[in-house]
Amino acid sequence: MEWIEPLRCRFAVWQSKRRARINLLRLERLGLLRNPQGPGFVMADYTLEEALASVGKGWGPIVERLWRFCKAQNPPIMVTQVKEKLGGLRFYVGAATDDVWKVIDAGEAESLKTCEDCGQPGETRPLGWILTLCDACFMKHTKRQQEEWKK
Ligand SMILES: [Zn+2]
Repeated sequence: MEWIEPLRCRFAVWQSKRRARINLLRLERLGLLRNPQGPGFVMADYTLEEALASVGKGWGPIVERLWRFCKAQNPPIMVTQVKEKLGGLRFYVGAATDDVWKVIDAGEAESLKTCEDCGQPGETRPLGWILTLCDACFMKHTKRQQEEWKK
């Protein structure tokens, strides 16, 4: 039965592709696919929408500028994680040159002077956790926190 061998091979290839897909889906369901610090680290390439959704709207212009800058490189640079940490923007990318890192560092530094909520000039605030906010948004957060304490 010589004809059955190529069929068996094709089935094996289909099966291994299917298994790989199921593994990806499982990782995604566990929330590990987009979490570089998780145990099942898989390099993810953030879309612009994902990058923007990862931090407050006030930092949107900085995130969009950095994301577009990375994608305009040749070859385009992977954006592996975007988040807020200690009041500042963290913009993680795949392999990049020093010149690219300089631009990203400047954007991250800018976030420390930009309200994460509304984009107005701001500074880092001690709120139990650190956030970078303008005076108005800082008042809003403080008021909310005081109301929490009253409960
Ligand atoms: Zn603000």
